[in-house]
Amino acid sequence: MAVAEITDVPPASQKPQTTAENGSPRSARVTGREFSRWYQNRQQRQNIENGKPYFNGPPRIPESGRHSPSRLLRCHRRSFYDTFNAPKETAAPQGIFWFGSKFETDIAVPFLRDQTGTDEYVRNSMWVDFTIRREGDDLRIRGETDPVVVDEDSTPLLLTEIKTTSSVTHLQEPKEQHLAQVHCYLYGLSEKYDCKLREAVVLYASREDFEVRTFHVDFDLAFWEDRVLPWAEQNTAFRQSKELPPAVPEYEWECQYCPYRRRCGKGDGPHADAGPTGLLPLVADYPREQIRTYLAAHPTAKLTPTLAHEFPELASEYGSYDWRCSVCGSSHTMRAVDWDGDVDQLPSCPDCRHREIPAELTGPSPEKQAVPMVEPES
Ligand code: SF4
Repeated sequence: MAVAEITDVPPASQKPQTTAENGSPRSARVTGREFSRWYQNRQQRQNIENGKPYFNGPPRIPESGRHSPSRLLRCHRRSFYDTFNAPKETAAPQGIFWFGSKFETDIAVPFLRDQTGTDEYVRNSMWVDFTIRREGDDLRIRGETDPVVVDEDSTPLLLTEIKTTSSVTHLQEPKEQHLAQVHCYLYGLSEKYDCKLREAVVLYASREDFEVRTFHVDFDLAFWEDRVLPWAEQNTAFRQSKELPPAVPEYEWECQYCPYRRRCGKGDGPHADAGPTGLLPLVADYPREQIRTYLAAHPTAKLTPTLAHEFPELASEYGSYDWRCSVCGSSHTMRAVDWDGDVDQLPSCPDCRHREIPAELTGPSPEKQAVPMVEPES
């Protein structure tokens, strides 16, 4: 007797028909593109409603001596690229930010409230903004804490720093950057409230399984004076001189997660040691929002031909550079060059057809784009 084969997966012919983002007028509104537009509008509205409309405009460049606690002790070159709004090569990890914020308000704060004694309260956050006088330039540190346990006068009693991460299994101690952040808040809150706040808890939570690991931290004057403040001074000096810092990360793992790997020279491709302005001519996969942010921050910047092909709507809004031949130096408008968008096969130069191997066209290098660095605020 023949036995029919039983399988969970129906043959291809029996599968429901699907199409990418097409359908009835109603279902056609539920698409990835519509979601991106909706999410962006929602964020802009929230920035206005939260009293932070400046987040919707072009990113500002802070004065050279100003530092954010969450950006200390990182690679100086990466910090330089961030400060001067270099175009990021990867999308912002919105999901990670969202989870971290949700975890803090919905889980960490209620947990802390249940751990506090009578006459103790939990504030979601507190601001610090203080200046440290140095022999050279003063350092100004401004930032917002995570939840703080306070007394009935709102004087801080215990600082917390909440971090979410992929896994806490191998965590033996807090990251040095998080210790620097905590030290800024301990110092700033002690000064602001005229108290001696010396203790903090760094709480790490796994995004995978909610396992939590905590570390108690005491203010360490030597760490503050010999490690944190000298880093901030050196960072200020790089920003003042506008010279690209060396490609030397503070920690080995930094390059792996850096959004400037290719412009720095640690990624794939021929680029290295590019300054903070100008798009890389052979990179066609910059995320759309990162290009838009870069263009908004640099009024004279335009798209490279490869990006103009990929994002025609941005090209018509901001303009684009012509194709250039690296051999004969001729330039050609976007319209004059027929290209299918394959970056592994760039178009050939029409003026070099007589050569055995025709030269390829590409966009201008970041230096040739000659986009000026925006001046910091004073
Ligand atoms: S790739 Fe590494 S060295 Fe280069 S900027 Fe990024 S973190 Fe620094």
